[in-house]
Amino acid sequence: MSRSISGWRVLSLAFCCVVTAAVSPRAQAPDSVVQRIRASTQYAQASAFIETDYDRFVNELIALTEIPAPQFKEQARAKAYVEMLRQQGLVDVEIDAEGNALGVRKGTGGGPMVAVVAHLDTVFPDGTDVKVKRQGTRFAAPGIGDNTRGIALMLAVIRAVQAAKFQTTSDVLFVGNVGEEGEGDLRGVKFLLRQGKYKDRIKQFIAIDGGEQGNITRGGVGSLRYRVIFKGPGGHSYGAFGLVNPAFAMGSAIAKFSRLNVPIEPRTTFNIGVVRGGTSVNSIPAEVSMDVDMRSESCAELKKVNEAFLALVKHAVDEENGVRSTREGKIEADPKLIGDRPCGETPASSPIVQTATAVVKAFGLTLNYSISSTDSNVPMNMGIPAVTIGRGGPGGRAHAPDEWTDVDRKGSVEAVKVAMTVILAVAGVP
Ligand SMILES: [Zn+2]
Repeated sequence: MSRSISGWRVLSLAFCCVVTAAVSPRAQAPDSVVQRIRASTQYAQASAFIETDYDRFVNELIALTEIPAPQFKEQARAKAYVEMLRQQGLVDVEIDAEGNALGVRKGTGGGPMVAVVAHLDTVFPDGTDVKVKRQGTRFAAPGIGDNTRGIALMLAVIRAVQAAKFQTTSDVLFVGNVGEEGEGDLRGVKFLLRQGKYKDRIKQFIAIDGGEQGNITRGGVGSLRYRVIFKGPGGHSYGAFGLVNPAFAMGSAIAKFSRLNVPIEPRTTFNIGVVRGGTSVNSIPAEVSMDVDMRSESCAELKKVNEAFLALVKHAVDEENGVRSTREGKIEADPKLIGDRPCGETPASSPIVQTATAVVKAFGLTLNYSISSTDSNVPMNMGIPAVTIGRGGPGGRAHAPDEWTDVDRKGSVEAVKVAMTVILAVAGVP
């Protein structure tokens, strides 16, 4: 659910933070933790299990892909997914008040809860044909990669750790969450971490999203989106000429906005994507509006561009009220926040990034750190150490109707092992 907050108030919202408070240092270096996991009997058992589980992974990927999950309409998929979580033997399995499907795998105790999330929603609207088209191991369907493969991978990981009776120190909360894409505005994870029943317990966070498993997302691009409505008295274009005009105020705001200086590094961007309003060519409009998008890799830069934007809207309105007649009423502008993806960063030196890095190296993958906009933005902004890891498999055309993912057996099996090892190492194996 997207909630509107008055733009003038957002100035006071906290824009933070570099995660400095890491969890207590582990007794062992991440490399040796990963080595120990990979050398264990349980790991050999889990690996053997993953091989035998391949067909089920593929079947579940197809079944889940073919349950539509448009933004704000994830219910059917969440219902199916929560049953699948229950079948894996998790406890406290439920759909929360926001619509997230979740369940807990108990640890031995002594470690902080780890949330592992993969988003259920897709960008495709109701009525999209979601039938999977198979050409060998190349499967195509809207949403099959982003992020249905992520939620299918998560099930395969849970089954493998259950089959091998892997113990972890921490409780692991597995979540198929709603609202990652677009106007969903990260609502599932916002609820989970700000209002849900585990909000005070989750101290580490892993999102499964994106393809390449060598890629570790440890920075969240923040974005702020507004719909600004400019209102005025309106009137006849000829007879009432001289009255304030909201189109002039908005035009002036757009011109000022277009000339804002933003840094190339850290990458900071802005856009006006939609303008609308007015009723006829011979009327001074009573209302016009624009939709605005601002993004930055840096919380400080996003804050700056946001403040500059709100100030220039106010300035443009004041100017229009100053140069034309307000005898029938003034121009007013009301910036409503329609999107708020918080920014943040997990330092490369933090244990969670070091652990994911150790896994990537152990599997011989090409390591890359990236900054992106994923569910991890929310915990990063709150100071909770978070990374987003890949779901694996070559794939492409994400967010397009011909989206595809390759489920070649070897690569698919390996991808489950990589994700499983990251989760185990972060959750701690006693
Ligand atoms: Zn995604």
